[in-house]
Amino acid sequence: MDHKKSLLIIPIFLPHQGCPHQCSFCNQNKISNTPSRLPSTSFMNREINRYLSFKRDPDTPVQIAFYGGNFLGIPFSSIIMLLDEAAAFVHAGKADSIRFSTRPDTISNEILDKLEPYRISTIELGAQSMDDRILSLSNRGHTAEDTARAASTIKQRNIQLGIQMMTGLPGDEGRQSIETANKIIGLSPDFVRIYPTLVLSKSPLEKSYTRGEYSPMSLENSVKLAAKIYCLFTKSGIPVIRMGLQASDGLEKNEGLVAGPFHPAFGHLVLSEIFLEKVKERLQCRQNVRDKEAVIHVHATGISKMRGLKNQNIHALQRMFRLKAVHILSDDTLRKDQVMVNIRD
Ligand code: SF4
Repeated sequence: MDHKKSLLIIPIFLPHQGCPHQCSFCNQNKISNTPSRLPSTSFMNREINRYLSFKRDPDTPVQIAFYGGNFLGIPFSSIIMLLDEAAAFVHAGKADSIRFSTRPDTISNEILDKLEPYRISTIELGAQSMDDRILSLSNRGHTAEDTARAASTIKQRNIQLGIQMMTGLPGDEGRQSIETANKIIGLSPDFVRIYPTLVLSKSPLEKSYTRGEYSPMSLENSVKLAAKIYCLFTKSGIPVIRMGLQASDGLEKNEGLVAGPFHPAFGHLVLSEIFLEKVKERLQCRQNVRDKEAVIHVHATGISKMRGLKNQNIHALQRMFRLKAVHILSDDTLRKDQVMVNIRD
């Protein structure tokens, strides 16, 4: 499945189902705003049909996705119950594929052999870090080697591989996140997601935070770090399909969020930061821009990212380079990530 094509993903949340314990940063109930229980087949049926009713283009591929837990840690009879329900939609031609997210230490050839009849198209591994000390500090209970082994097992079966990583975990000073990204690139995933660590209520990390043992990253530093990591992945041809947690009602209203770099448009902030850095680089190479006007050309899809939220990038450039004005113009002959800067009096 090509992630660049639009895809209707029908999420079935299984908060904490199959988890051997609670990882220190995690509270899936707050993230998904869903209580911890396996959905009944009738609930799944209703939910899938509800999403299918949103489908406008009959050619849009549909994928049923099990998120929010450790899918392969669920008792096998329940895995089969969930997959049978999803597969019924695939067999009826109403859905095209099935995906799930799971811990790296649940992947084995034996379990994937058993799931072969379901033709799973995508598996997402919650790697979080490729540093064993950081994994241990977050009580993950698996190693970086488990992730490498799982990734290779999945790829050998021609199943799409997604990898999720986190920044700002306890013990991570940023350098380790960069190293994690580089090690993940070595595993050749088909796509990645980047999540900054948040302090969620009723998570073990909340206790560390309250005791003063853990300080989350600031939003600004978290955006800058994610921007560096995003560029590492995209330069290696690996799409970053999500940055930052999706805003559930609880997170949006700050009910489940105790502290940390949450922003409902985190991904947009990161892409804006990347555009800002590109223009700064160009202007730093130019002489005498003070009191002049900068005319920045970007593809139409990049206009709002170039401006930044509330025109922050424009204000920052004016301030930094003492520019008289900054104009942003769309130019669809440019690539979507390209920036051209002209200076005029
Ligand atoms: S991070 Fe994954 S394995 Fe850990 S508690 Fe959360 S859902 Fe379970």
